[in-house]
Amino acid sequence: MAYRSPLESRIAKKTTKAISDFNLIADGDRIMVGLSGGKDSWALLQILDELRQRAPIDFSLIAVNVDSGYKDFKHDVIARTCEARGWEYRIEHTSIGDLMDDILEANATPCSLCARLRRGVLYRIASEIGATKIALGHHLDDFIETLLLNLFFAGSLMAMPARLVSDDGQHTVIRPLAYVEEAEARLYAKERDLPIIGCCCPACGDLSLQRQRVKRLIMDLEVEHPGVKQSMLKALSNVKPRHLLDRRLNPSGELRDSVALRLEESGAPLLQIQTSRPGH
Ligand code: SF4
Repeated sequence: MAYRSPLESRIAKKTTKAISDFNLIADGDRIMVGLSGGKDSWALLQILDELRQRAPIDFSLIAVNVDSGYKDFKHDVIARTCEARGWEYRIEHTSIGDLMDDILEANATPCSLCARLRRGVLYRIASEIGATKIALGHHLDDFIETLLLNLFFAGSLMAMPARLVSDDGQHTVIRPLAYVEEAEARLYAKERDLPIIGCCCPACGDLSLQRQRVKRLIMDLEVEHPGVKQSMLKALSNVKPRHLLDRRLNPSGELRDSVALRLEESGAPLLQIQTSRPGH
């Protein structure tokens, strides 16, 4: 079964590679796709559905939208689109928006708290519907922006994991678009006529100044040195712990026998964390 366009074929290839590299999907999985209504989550749902139809294994999809309760949020458009395409879906109406107003500290960035609250809802629904994995639409640009944000502003060398098991071991979050660029996801959502819906919260589309700056920096660098983004992505899977200063990785200074060296030689990923951004 041929893909509809070179773009779809390219995204399918990148997504398949991420699935294979990080063992993201297994036979019998019921995958719950976090569907915000933004371009990335639509692109994720669409490409997973394409892969599902071609995969040598069986897995199913259910799209779940967490409606934060903002007035004018077009959940009906999400419902209609899913129905038209035969996608199983659930829309969970919540009052996260009001809750945010109540508990968010003045001048705090809302997206991190919002993402945590919505993640809690997703975990609950995953348990209710028996989902084995929760797929989120973070893409390559999110990974490298998060890496630089942590590097520049949080004093940590970390991006986000392609696969993360929750602290209680009950849920597995996967990010199959890890190798797909934001521009590709945007074009793909457009190519497949998927309706981009804003979350309607006051901060919608309003990136933090730090994230805006990092986005611009990467964009400028990519223009000057095409391939910078790919190099940064490659760096995330090519960590050299002995060339860092974290003494937990090399406590005794005995480099040959250190855990760090063994991890470095095995190629095991060392640093895993995540941050949130608008829309997720
Ligand atoms: S922009 Fe999106 S992620 Fe950020 S607070 Fe609003 S709804 Fe939440």
